[in-house]
Amino acid sequence: MKTTLIDSPASLAHRLPDGHPEHDGRYTAVREALAGIAGTVWAEAGQAPVEALARFHTVEHVDRVLTACAEAGVEGFVGLDPDTIVCGQSARAALSAVGGAIAGVDTVMRDGEGAVFLLARPPGHHAEPDRPMGFCLFNTIAIAAMHALEVHGLPSVAIVDIDVHHGNGSQCLAERDERVLFASLHQSPLYPGTGHRGETGLGGNVVNVPLPDGTDGAAWRAAFEAEIVPALRKTQPALILVSAGFDAHADDPLGGLGLVDEDYAWAAERLAALASEFAHSRLVSVLEGGYDCPALGRSAAAFVRALARA
Ligand SMILES: [Zn+2]
Repeated sequence: MKTTLIDSPASLAHRLPDGHPEHDGRYTAVREALAGIAGTVWAEAGQAPVEALARFHTVEHVDRVLTACAEAGVEGFVGLDPDTIVCGQSARAALSAVGGAIAGVDTVMRDGEGAVFLLARPPGHHAEPDRPMGFCLFNTIAIAAMHALEVHGLPSVAIVDIDVHHGNGSQCLAERDERVLFASLHQSPLYPGTGHRGETGLGGNVVNVPLPDGTDGAAWRAAFEAEIVPALRKTQPALILVSAGFDAHADDPLGGLGLVDEDYAWAAERLAALASEFAHSRLVSVLEGGYDCPALGRSAAAFVRALARA
């Protein structure tokens, strides 16, 4: 697949207090790991306009985040919840992440097909329409999904969430819009505590696959085949979006699953094959979590190499 890597250098402007797991070294680790992968081209993210955010978030939510950043000033921090903290430049980073995801959708729509991987932080999938949460300010992938539906007029999109945590914010989108399939593999119990099988959205457009602590790559792949693949085949989305968190890796300090680098190559291959089967070979992946920098870099590189080979 033609594979475009969208870089958001503004990621480095989002500083957090020392010791926070979602630090800027994550961005640098992935940036270095993705350098020079054959068959990829780089592009740079621009800032998303506020009206794009308003397709998912309330105006009050956007104002609250922008105001908190302004209050943080040059040196300070403002906590939006115990985990979710901003500095003065955090909004610039988050708006660039959203801009990159929108550009990813525009890229595959312009070219008619292709794979995109967005390298950006902060992550987005925990942010709900009216609240920041779990290191996330704006829900990058939900906003990109709405852009695909409303601006490009696609009839349906899928969000496949492979982060170890449940994407509660993205699920909110499917719960109010039947054009969206939200399908998630995640550890349970684990933060944020949502993602039970009984949460099925609007007639089945939410598919949650909770996995116990210690699940290894073989069992993870089997669950993907048994539950995520049939949901995608049934929906036949016109575009597949991926919340590409790499914190289900065995080395991750926040998750308890046992994936290895090769499992991410496998996931990218399967997602690319599914996209070519019914989604016009359109696949846009967005970096979410991943908190062991060496494992994060290697896993993201394995994922991108597999996209470029597909
Ligand atoms: Zn995560």
